[in-house]
Amino acid sequence: MSGLDTFRKETRAWLSQNAPEGLRGAADGLFNGYWGGRHGEFESDDQRRWFDAMVQRGWTAPTWPTEYGGGGLSGEQARVLESEIRRLKMPPALVGFGLVMIGPTLLEFGTDAQKREHLPAIIAGQIRWCQGYSEPNSGSDLASLQTQAVRDGDRYVVTGQKIWTSYAEKADWIFALVRTRQGATKHDGITFLLIDMAQDSVTTKPIKLISGSSPFCEVFFDQAHADARQVIGQEHQGWAVAKALLQHERTMVGELFARAITGGQEALVTKARRHIGPETGRLADAGLRDDIAQNAMDEAAFMLTLKRIRDNAKAGGRPGMESSILKVYGTELNQRRQDLAMRIAGPEALGWEGDGFAADDLQWTRDWLRSRGNTIEGGTSEVQLNIIAKRVLGLP
Ligand SMILES: Cc1cc2nc3c(=O)[nH]c(=O)nc-3n(C[C@H](O)[C@H](O)[C@H](O)COP(=O)(O)OP(=O)(O)OC[C@H]3O[C@@H](n4cnc5c(N)ncnc54)[C@H](O)[C@@H]3O)c2cc1C
Repeated sequence: MSGLDTFRKETRAWLSQNAPEGLRGAADGLFNGYWGGRHGEFESDDQRRWFDAMVQRGWTAPTWPTEYGGGGLSGEQARVLESEIRRLKMPPALVGFGLVMIGPTLLEFGTDAQKREHLPAIIAGQIRWCQGYSEPNSGSDLASLQTQAVRDGDRYVVTGQKIWTSYAEKADWIFALVRTRQGATKHDGITFLLIDMAQDSVTTKPIKLISGSSPFCEVFFDQAHADARQVIGQEHQGWAVAKALLQHERTMVGELFARAITGGQEALVTKARRHIGPETGRLADAGLRDDIAQNAMDEAAFMLTLKRIRDNAKAGGRPGMESSILKVYGTELNQRRQDLAMRIAGPEALGWEGDGFAADDLQWTRDWLRSRGNTIEGGTSEVQLNIIAKRVLGLP
């Protein structure tokens, strides 16, 4: 038996003991899991038990070094762990931007002291992070950002505004891009700064989305303080760090939609049988049959591409420019699947609330509305296509 087979066997045995029965089958694809943070609340005892067990093994961050509390697994072992967790359809034990964005960036650019301060708190779900990149006049043209940080002894004084900051009202710390000087070019003079949000001079204001939920905010800094040791990389040269983090973000978005695919096709077919019929055998609508089959093929192709990219990436290494391919294709695929779900539900998809509609139809309507933002968040599809054209295909 190879080392990897032994690892799979041991992992399966460990999961059979430690994955609470009540959560098996509960994975629903997207950010369903414990978010952690100073004010984090568990939804159930099972969720807490699952989280505690995984943290103890360092498996909330399976490939991160054990010296920071991570699992120390190789990329291959981590994929075995992931497939065994997926086999039980367990939700992730911990989710959030600490694990998928700032953590990997700290591993690459942080000093040992910064890693020791922040990584264990991410792995153990103690601190919840948000991303302070976009500003009212700086989205795609991110480098034009104007939030200012002025050095004052061993700290910075930060003034300005961020926008579209996902879950800022629940976050403890923000990783922010700030301008520390007017440089020769707009990319020059930006610093990547970590700011503790537990101060009166940092305030958040939720923005409501079309889907009815309010997962993102405006964030205001009114002479907020950040310790100078919280600069990641070099002062004024944060753009390189910012871009590296975006590659992690885009890969995360692609991976998220890959997770959503697991079970998504099955859910579409079940929904089509209910709304269109017949209950068994072929669906009555031939056009819809074709489109559902096309969706299944597109999803299979996406999963194979994802697997190829993962196999090529070194364990824990930074994804390359192909992260833009995952981002653009994963999000557009999700939107097409959501559109298909709306077509299947027909007039039932027009509900917002009330007894006349099935709860899962209402949820699909809201998911469809939420999916409109997928091709904007993390960098729009147009911007990703520009990156693919220039950096992947080498077009002029
Ligand atoms: C749900 C959601 C969550 C988000 N969460 C966060 C977060 O946590 N933190 C954060 O910092 N930001 C977040 N954002 C913001 C997001 O990163 C920006 O909305 C995005 O980068 C686009 O910027 P913008 O909205 O200013 O649009 P603009 O940049 O003004 O773009 C407007 C339109 O012009 C097009 N365009 C712009 N430049 C080009 C170009 N060079 N070539 C071709 N077309 C172009 C765009 O594709 C778009 O269609 C979130 C956004 C959404 C929708």
